[in-house]
Amino acid sequence: MTPMTTAEPERARLVEFSRELGRVDRAWALLAEGNTSLLLPTAAGDPVAMLVKASGASMARATPGDFVRLELRPVLDLVDGAGGGDAEVDAVFDAAARAGGGRRPSVEAILHAVCLDLPGVTAVGHTHPVPVNALLCSASADALTRGSLFPDQIVVLGTRPLLVPYIDPGLQLARVVRTMLREHIEATGRVPKVVYLQNHGMFAIGADAAEVLRITEMAVKVAEVLLGSLAAGGPVYLSEEAVARIDTRPDELHRRAELATSTSTPSADRAAAAREGDHSS
Ligand SMILES: [Zn+2]
Repeated sequence: MTPMTTAEPERARLVEFSRELGRVDRAWALLAEGNTSLLLPTAAGDPVAMLVKASGASMARATPGDFVRLELRPVLDLVDGAGGGDAEVDAVFDAAARAGGGRRPSVEAILHAVCLDLPGVTAVGHTHPVPVNALLCSASADALTRGSLFPDQIVVLGTRPLLVPYIDPGLQLARVVRTMLREHIEATGRVPKVVYLQNHGMFAIGADAAEVLRITEMAVKVAEVLLGSLAAGGPVYLSEEAVARIDTRPDELHRRAELATSTSTPSADRAAAAREGDHSS
């Protein structure tokens, strides 16, 4: 089986996933902003690879040809190596472009590879939502990671998102995030659901595309609530005991499992309705 035929169902899923994440009414990513990736299933002997958005493609109007197959190993070797970068990255991306109809992966594909290398992760979505970036471009960026504000935030986003200082996108950023992720997982025993990049945007890291959509939707809500609470005298975070209780109680674990089996469509409809001013739900 050739890599192209292996990837066809994933290519269709990635188009759908990208159009959802890039929906114009959501404004999570404008024009060619943002990018998506899916880990490809591997047949015996096949290298581990991903499909990732090509540079310059629009998520809202994504088509199957807008995604490039990229093997993870050569990319991760660059991240873990000591080489300076640009020429080596160009060589790996040029090879992917030659093999995949001429489209080059987005420069942020390196960070997608880092995220897809984490245990249990098969889908990644990177966006620049306005409320999230309002905080990430402010003196209050760390308010996003100082604590949890409400129970549903914990159910969908977990309790420990990662905040990364501004670093030039590409190899340098991927190296720092790889190191920070390793330290984070060592310290908490968990893969974070969100990586916030200061003055840039967010990466949602999921078990599948539907989880990435839920994570992004909830991160946008958290940012909106946080912006409101900062304007209303400052956020009041849940106590450590309350957070631990929600994070581990059986009905919340059940809710999390139910969310994981439902599709993202109803919540997507709710988001559209909310933006049109219908708060009746
Ligand atoms: Zn970006």
